[in-house]
Amino acid sequence: MNAPSRATMLARLGRPASGWANTPIVKGSTYLFENVAQWRSTRARREQERVLSYGARGNETVYALEDAITELEAGYRTKLFPTGLAAIAATLLACLKCGDHVLISEGVYEPVKRLCATQLVNYGITYSFFAADDADWQRHLRPETRMVYAESPSSLLYDMLDLPAMSQVCRARGILLCADNTWGSCLNYQPLALGCDISILAATKYLGGHSDVMMGSVTTNEANFPALENASINLGQTVSAEDAFLVLRGLRTLQLRLERHAESALAIAAWLNEQEAVRTVWHPALPGDQGYALWQRDAHGSNGLLTIEFDPALSAECIEQGIDRMQLFGIGSSWGGFESLVLPVDPARTRLAAQPTAPGYLLRLHIGLEGQEDLKQDLGRLLGALS
Ligand SMILES: *Cc1c(COP(=O)(O)O)cnc(C)c1O
Repeated sequence: MNAPSRATMLARLGRPASGWANTPIVKGSTYLFENVAQWRSTRARREQERVLSYGARGNETVYALEDAITELEAGYRTKLFPTGLAAIAATLLACLKCGDHVLISEGVYEPVKRLCATQLVNYGITYSFFAADDADWQRHLRPETRMVYAESPSSLLYDMLDLPAMSQVCRARGILLCADNTWGSCLNYQPLALGCDISILAATKYLGGHSDVMMGSVTTNEANFPALENASINLGQTVSAEDAFLVLRGLRTLQLRLERHAESALAIAAWLNEQEAVRTVWHPALPGDQGYALWQRDAHGSNGLLTIEFDPALSAECIEQGIDRMQLFGIGSSWGGFESLVLPVDPARTRLAAQPTAPGYLLRLHIGLEGQEDLKQDLGRLLGALS
């Protein structure tokens, strides 16, 4: 039999074998055993296998989501965390120890830099960055480099990394390659298949998809799972069954939603590219984008994110007055929900000082599921304020 399509996987994963169409929400802290012998054997087994033993270690609803993400990410096993950032922090704490160095791709989700700069350094873990377009990025590896932490495409400007090539270098040197796959959201991009050891998702974004739940996940290959699980237990990380249920529900429509987000975003990116007030548009699926070739080679689809740079002659004050005139785009953090958002951004905060950054005002857009023409009209309110 052929491997099932992604659409079929999304309709079937994480469901009970019989009975209810959906895995029910299981609430519980204490799990009761039949007798002392069963309690004792479960305590021993739970260090090696996934068995019901205590609420913090998960329950049927949580397992259902873990297993669905494991299949979609093509990994060995998955652990869930209360936020995407918690998933990242647990991964770094699981894999790095005093004396280790982590090499991080430029343009990474900004709180990762803060985590390294204000906390990991206190544990004797060092970090540095490399630029996505640095052909000689390997020179940044040190004898004590334990992990390369990659985000591809990067936050804000969508720099694409050559993960297969990077994984060959890392494998040869015994260095872990870890990817933040939030942009790819299980469907568009497959870091583990491209050679990574660990793939992290902020399920808060497209997996949840409805701006009503926060969650992170980490999927690893077999070798790296025990360390991750150990950190998750030590740090007391767990997720609620309601939240796991909401993310499972989001998965059912993930492909449909992503296709619509991507179609509208590409059309709007091309349209914005024609506007006089707009100097640059970043969207990896837009022909001509810096990441287009690698996106075509390694990704299977795109999403609703794009970033624009306004003509540097336009003042921030004037642009912000235009943003305030918009009626459909909300102003807010995050993305991946059903609704359109805009957010002023400053990639200089996570890019290398030596890299030139765009001089114009930068605005990140998340193109939601509203009508494309309505969204263009709303962007017209902003552009109209600039002329
Ligand atoms: C949003 C985001 C995160 C963090 O997710 P939270 O659930 O908000 O903590 C991590 N990585 C990337 C790339 C993100 O966009």
